[in-house]
Amino acid sequence: MKITVIADTHAQHFDQIPKDIIKSLDNSDAIIHLGDFDSMEILREFQQYDNFFAVNGNHDKGELKTAIPETDIVEVKGKKIGIVHGHGCVLPLGFQYGLLQRFNGNKVDAILFGHTHIAVSKTIDDILFFNPGSTAGRFPAEQKSYGILEIDSEIRSYVIPLKTTYKSTFINQAYAIAQEFSPRELYYRVTTLY
Ligand SMILES: [Zn+2]
Ligand SMILES: [Zn+2]
Repeated sequence: MKITVIADTHAQHFDQIPKDIIKSLDNSDAIIHLGDFDSMEILREFQQYDNFFAVNGNHDKGELKTAIPETDIVEVKGKKIGIVHGHGCVLPLGFQYGLLQRFNGNKVDAILFGHTHIAVSKTIDDILFFNPGSTAGRFPAEQKSYGILEIDSEIRSYVIPLKTTYKSTFINQAYAIAQEFSPRELYYRVTTLY
């Protein structure tokens, strides 16, 4: 069972989604989008796929906010996959705790989230915490990326970075600022997952 996991598309039109990602969607058994679509048009295009699951993000306003839930649990081969965008989860007790809180004590085998635009795949206390990064490569992501989950008796997770030649002036400036910190230190400012 192959699942393509994407987040933070932040785009107005479906043709802005990188071709490599579309190819992966076409070859998946299921697709999970972790929010921050930014447009209803894109949601409708994704909904053309079978087995499409999604949650809304902090950028998904109006119709988008009501069309899809804030959290969901997708069951695949007996594994419970919690999905949530992740905004509002940076609590004093840590991001990981904030994410867990969203599932009200439901036991999950994995929590998939987005929002930070930083890819992560880490197992803590038998729960996989997985963020595929941003398909738009938005700051502080260093590049566009998406994720693959393979699920049978276990869950295997992969972050797939995309080659990109596009760097805006804004992103270059943001890199310059980010380089004052090591990536790890920068990430600590957002979450304690690393
Ligand atoms: Zn975002
Ligand atoms: Zn967000």
